[in-house]
Amino acid sequence: MTRPALAIIGNGMATARLLDELASRGGLGTFTITVFGEEPHGAYNRILLNRVLMGGGVEEITLKPTSWYAEKGVRFVPGVAVTRLSHAAQRLWTSDGKEHFFDTAVFATGSTARVPQVEGLKRPDGTLKRGAFVYRTASDVQHMRTHARPGMRAAVVGGGLLGLEAAKGLADLGLSVTVVHLFDVLMNRQVDRVGGQFLRRAIEKLGITVRTSVSTKAVLGEKRVEGLDFGGETLPAEMVVFSSGIKPRVELAYESDVPVNAGILVNDQLQTQLKKIYAVGECAEHDRIVYGTVQPIYEQCKVLADVLTGTNPDAAYRGSKVYTKLKVAGVEVASMGRIEADQTDDEAVQIIEEHRGVYRKLVIRDNRLVGAVLVGDSSAAAGLVQLFDDGSPLPANRLDVLASGEAIPGSGGNDPEVCNCHHVRTSTLLGEIRNGCDTIPKLSARTQAGTGCGSCRGQLANLILKNAPAVAGSRKG
Ligand SMILES: Cc1cc2nc3c(=O)[nH]c(=O)nc-3n(C[C@H](O)[C@H](O)[C@H](O)COP(=O)(O)OP(=O)(O)OC[C@H]3O[C@@H](n4cnc5c(N)ncnc54)[C@H](O)[C@@H]3O)c2cc1C
Repeated sequence: MTRPALAIIGNGMATARLLDELASRGGLGTFTITVFGEEPHGAYNRILLNRVLMGGGVEEITLKPTSWYAEKGVRFVPGVAVTRLSHAAQRLWTSDGKEHFFDTAVFATGSTARVPQVEGLKRPDGTLKRGAFVYRTASDVQHMRTHARPGMRAAVVGGGLLGLEAAKGLADLGLSVTVVHLFDVLMNRQVDRVGGQFLRRAIEKLGITVRTSVSTKAVLGEKRVEGLDFGGETLPAEMVVFSSGIKPRVELAYESDVPVNAGILVNDQLQTQLKKIYAVGECAEHDRIVYGTVQPIYEQCKVLADVLTGTNPDAAYRGSKVYTKLKVAGVEVASMGRIEADQTDDEAVQIIEEHRGVYRKLVIRDNRLVGAVLVGDSSAAAGLVQLFDDGSPLPANRLDVLASGEAIPGSGGNDPEVCNCHHVRTSTLLGEIRNGCDTIPKLSARTQAGTGCGSCRGQLANLILKNAPAVAGSRKG
């Protein structure tokens, strides 16, 4: 009997995860799967792109080498974009001129970097002027690295999570970096005004200049970038990186008559409004939300794998609570949920430690944690994420939650989650460490911890250090 054909459009982080979820349900044998990827690589961990900026190869951040697909019987078509899809004809067409049949299709086309309408940014053919970059793909960062020279002046437009990471990367390469942000608070979606002041100081301590409340009007330079114009005032720069948000890639869906809004509209089963056509990841819009981080995407992939394989007929995606962490060495920032107490009975608890440069804030509603901002010390983050997720009642003394850096007994908090991307708890990690996983790669291979955003790797190292059984003949400190 021929197996139904499943076409997956896009080969990013959502697809990598979906394939794993399908595999764990025996789904790779149920379908004849074809993955179409516009980028020339096997799926890679986009979150770790900074490593490529620092000179690493894409293979260092690869999630699935091309051999993986062949081994698993998945047909992988790299370096080829899907250009047209017909639901009625159950066919799609690719940039190499080929036609492919499918029974079921999944859009996993992700996002593209949003490029603002700035005068002088593009050449007449629509490509970015020499010296101008976005920060989204392996190819983007490889080009950034080729262009960058120590001592060069670089501007990063956008002081959000990715802009700050790009700025730190360029500063580490020896460039003189200025972050230019439209709003008055860096990471204004994750950090409140007071937290923003602490964050700014921490970023400036890295030698990065910060300009806030500045709007970029034009990129200067005839053939190559020579600076930015803020409407009268100019900033000289030989390189500019635009990190001004993302835009879901919905063009193919739109042109294929799959209903879209900001993203491709999906229901709780991740199905679009067309039968047997699904969407997952940053291109999908569920309940009016398009997510831009991996943990919600991983939750979507679980549901989609259940639906596609029929493993769980009740599978439904109900939305995700979002948690973000900045991955800039020396600047700890974690944020979840609401950053302001904006309803009458909301409660805000703030701790300011000027000297240590630490700011911590909880936002509480109906005795439950609905948001938190941590700047300068994010050690309480793992416990707080759990309280935020569980919605467990908080203790009368709110400071207990922050001061201990651990969640509260009774809320499952005596076993805090360490890896929030893969929901791996301390007890699981300790079990594996005691069974001989005495390095991060071994622990990651067993539990997946540390393979998402990587921000828990310090905690993993710490757990190993404290709990790995001493090797005969070695000294345990
Ligand atoms: C520098 C950087 C740092 C980040 N840091 C974090 C972090 O710390 N934590 C976090 O949670 N998230 C982070 N993110 C976001 C995270 O990487 C994304 O949420 C995730 O990659 C989205 O996965 P996706 O598969 O939906 O999209 P993508 O990973 O973008 O993959 C989509 C793929 O589809 C391909 N494609 C698109 N259209 C077509 C087509 N028509 N035909 C064929 N292929 C197509 C694209 O080329 C791309 O390869 C970061 C992102 C960047 C860029």
